[in-house]
Amino acid sequence: MSDQHQGLVFSCPAPVANSGIIRLGHGSGGKMTTNLIERVFLPLIGNDILNLLDDSALVTVQGTTLAITTDSYVVSPIFFPGGDIGSLAVHGTINDLAMRGAKPLYLSASFILEEGLSIEDLTRVTASVRQACLDAKVQLVAADTKVVNRGAADKLFITTSGIGIIETSLAPAANRAQVGDCILVSGDIGRHGIAVMSCREGLDLETAILSDSFPLNDIVQAILTNTSSVHCFRDITRGGLASVLNELASASKVGIEVEEEAIPVHPEVRGVCELLGLDPLYVACEGRLVAIVAPGDADLTLSIMKKQLGAEGSAMIGRIVSDHPGRVILRSRVGGNRILDKLSGEQLPRIC
Ligand code: MG
Repeated sequence: MSDQHQGLVFSCPAPVANSGIIRLGHGSGGKMTTNLIERVFLPLIGNDILNLLDDSALVTVQGTTLAITTDSYVVSPIFFPGGDIGSLAVHGTINDLAMRGAKPLYLSASFILEEGLSIEDLTRVTASVRQACLDAKVQLVAADTKVVNRGAADKLFITTSGIGIIETSLAPAANRAQVGDCILVSGDIGRHGIAVMSCREGLDLETAILSDSFPLNDIVQAILTNTSSVHCFRDITRGGLASVLNELASASKVGIEVEEEAIPVHPEVRGVCELLGLDPLYVACEGRLVAIVAPGDADLTLSIMKKQLGAEGSAMIGRIVSDHPGRVILRSRVGGNRILDKLSGEQLPRIC
């Protein structure tokens, strides 16, 4: 449908989710991504381990349990306030290993370069990869480079894979949330998405919002060492907190209730979200996790988290309930309840 009024064209595009070609929304981490995974990937390459769709896969090799994961990074721009594509690629892969309780050990990285990228920018990104590995105490032990024609990629894409070792018997996994468990978040949400977006849009902010990109392995190790009943971890990335909560609710077949008032959002992030018409609950982080823990251990876990670098702003935000399995309900500030659904379409493309 379209209508012309005083030279302006208003259009109401038809839904494109099932149009037969890939759209940006297929990379959102929301409903369209789930649809793609279920319709294309799992029927062809799925197996008992991949089908779990956890942050990393657990495999046993000669009696030793290892976690393994892989991720591609296509963020635009490649440099943003608080990080760049290099540190992001290391943090993201480390975090997916840590979410299964693994201690990250080794990474590999594949660099896809667009003809025309400056050697200076590549050097800066590579130095950032090095520093992020040093900070997180992991070694990058395998790498590859490919160059494609101008226009066949956008400056630089990086794919990182990682291996970690499981040294805990707690076995956190997305399908282990139980009714009565408490839901904790390791800090304020949405900084990464807003940092990238404000840079991309050229927003002139009073205080620059820095990305929250950060390795979560030390926070996870502190929880695993000092508590005994963490059931799930998940890092909040594409699709934001709302998408992560939906994934956990459906994997564990439980209901989730969260209090809007308890979810930490920095006022500047909230302000930019209002300006751009975004909901902070769906904006990406790259250094925040959700932990689901037994109620008896919740206060202890929260106090341990608050002492960790990068998790000082941790908060308890809700509970696992027996009602409405698979659904997430937000109890709003003004008293009403609303369903927090998975993201449909794409809010912020190429955010990670
Ligand atoms: Mg993850």
